[in-house]
Amino acid sequence: YTGKTGGTLFNEHMKKLTVQEFQSIPVVINDSASVYDAICTMFLEDVGTLFVVKQDSILIGIVSRKDLLRASMGKQDLESVPVSIIMTRMPNITTCKQEDPILEVAHKLISKQIDGVPVVRERTVNDQTVHEVIGRITKTNITKAFVHLAKDELHD
Ligand code: ADP
Repeated sequence: YTGKTGGTLFNEHMKKLTVQEFQSIPVVINDSASVYDAICTMFLEDVGTLFVVKQDSILIGIVSRKDLLRASMGKQDLESVPVSIIMTRMPNITTCKQEDPILEVAHKLISKQIDGVPVVRERTVNDQTVHEVIGRITKTNITKAFVHLAKDELHD
C-alpha cells in the first residue's frame, strides 16, 4: 500500500497530462487580411479565436469573436479595415508550450478570462526571439482532458 489516497493519485495523473496530447490545429490568418476576411475565416473554420501571423507562422496577434463584433458596430467598410488594427498584440498574448501541463493552461484561461491560447515554439531569427504558432488549446480541449481523466478512473 503506497499510502496515497485516490485524490492524490488523481492529482498526479492530472499533472502528467500535457498540451501536446490534447492540442488542436491552429487556425491562422495573415496580418494583411481584413476584418471581413477574418469573419469569413472564423465561420468557415468553425473556431472562436483566430491567430494573426506574418510569414512562417510567426505569431503577432489574436482576434476573438467579440473583437470582430466590436469592429462591426462602427460604420467602417469591413473589407478596408485590416485585422491588425483591431487584434490583441504581442507581447500581450498569453501562450503555452507543448510540454506544459494542461492544468497550467486551465489556470491561465481562468485568470486571464480568455477562451483559448496559442501553442507556440520559440525560435531565434536575426538575434530576435519569435513565437511560431504550432497549435491551439481552448476550453474544449481542457474539457476533453477532464473527460479523459474520468475514463481512466472508471477503468482502474
Ligand atoms: P470573446 O472576446 O469572444 O469573449 P475571449 O474571451 O477569448 O473571446 O477574448 C477576450 C479578449 O481577450 C479579446 O479582446 C481577445 O482579443 C483577447 N484574447 C483572447 N485570447 C487571448 C490570449 N491568449 N492572450 C491575450 N489576449 C487574448
